Amino acid sequence: MTYDPDNIFAKILRGDIPCDKIFENDHVLAFNDIAPQAPTHILVVPKNPYISMDDFSANASDVEIGALIRAVGHVARKAGLIDPGYRILANHGVDARQEVPHFHVHVFGGRDLGGMVRRDTA
Ligand code: AMP
Repeated sequence: MTYDPDNIFAKILRGDIPCDKIFENDHVLAFNDIAPQAPTHILVVPKNPYISMDDFSANASDVEIGALIRAVGHVARKAGLIDPGYRILANHGVDARQEVPHFHVHVFGGRDLGGMVRRDTA
């Protein structure tokens, strides 16, 4: 699989379409999800073109990987989620129903997030 430069997050990173920006540095952009599934639902994405967790974990530099994890912690703190808590999630591939083929970490918070993985087919 090759990276699709026309995916929606690539367009956001290029500035072709807007986003509700939370945080940005040289390596990372974080913005609010357009269809939030919790009171706080932030997406944290690397600026370079990685398809998913598999691509990012294998091919990103240590600096990029460190920057992304630091950014996730930063946006969670900035959103006031440390107490009572938050959840991070990254979907890779078909079984996880990854929709956007640019690696991203979801940060959910602001309500009881329920059990870790729901077993359904909806
Ligand atoms: P995933 O299924 O992990 O690939 O999640 C993709 C996420 O991107 C979903 O939660 C969508 O609501 C979100 N999304 C899609 N388009 C946009 C957009 N233009 N701005 C912000 N979030 C988006």
